[in-house]
Amino acid sequence: MINGKFFVIDSHCHIYPEKIASKAVAGTDAFYGVTSVMGGKTSELKEISRSAGIDMFVVESVATTPKQVPSINRFIAEETEKSNGLFVGVGTLHPDSEDIAGDIDDLIALGLKGVKLHPDIQRFKIDDYRCLKIYEICEKKGLPILMHTGDNRYDYSNPNRLKPILDIYKGLTVIGAHFGGYSIWEEAAQELHGIDNFYVDCSSSFFNFSDDEIVRLIRTYGVDRVLFGTDFPMWSPKAELERFMNLPFNDDERKLILSENAKKIYGI
Ligand SMILES: [Zn+2]
Repeated sequence: MINGKFFVIDSHCHIYPEKIASKAVAGTDAFYGVTSVMGGKTSELKEISRSAGIDMFVVESVATTPKQVPSINRFIAEETEKSNGLFVGVGTLHPDSEDIAGDIDDLIALGLKGVKLHPDIQRFKIDDYRCLKIYEICEKKGLPILMHTGDNRYDYSNPNRLKPILDIYKGLTVIGAHFGGYSIWEEAAQELHGIDNFYVDCSSSFFNFSDDEIVRLIRTYGVDRVLFGTDFPMWSPKAELERFMNLPFNDDERKLILSENAKKIYGI
């Protein structure tokens, strides 16, 4: 809770087992050419909760092979279980799995509340036929998908590939990370705003913009369409939250972005 009245959910956090955290973070850093400011350990999130007043974290991890799916989902579920309500767990899937339906059943049985997909790291195009089964079942089961979106170096997760999927699977809720298009922010906002089953989070984006530009981006999607998220461990959730709280939004608008939109989507 911050300022005594805002319940805060960080809706985009990557976590890793202690033993592999530094290697996993180094891998993402190399992919994006950045240096993460945090380590990716769950203990850090617990500390941030105390020091920054963040009440809840949506936690996830991405499988780069189908074989990793069950163990990653078990890890996320165990950490969520141990967190005493601090974490909401989101599972991973891989389009090359031989049993996507089974993987989704397992993920639901573990109590996970959604699915994280990362087309650029998992190497599939959003509109690849291999993914259609995922979308179909997630739509049917009411599982939201947190989708990495956007990369000006590749053609895996850009708006032209996402838009037809949102149109076909109208009952599927998708949250486009990084304002719907990392490194192609403006283009994504023009293409993807005003779509009923589409939300965005604000993670890994503030660094690129002035306050005025962030406000404009949020208003393009609408305050009822944007979730506060930080892409931990890439950024400091405390610093990102401070930046957000300095933006000129009123209390009702802040409440939507800081928690209410995420609560609605994940049924929290
Ligand atoms: Zn992510």
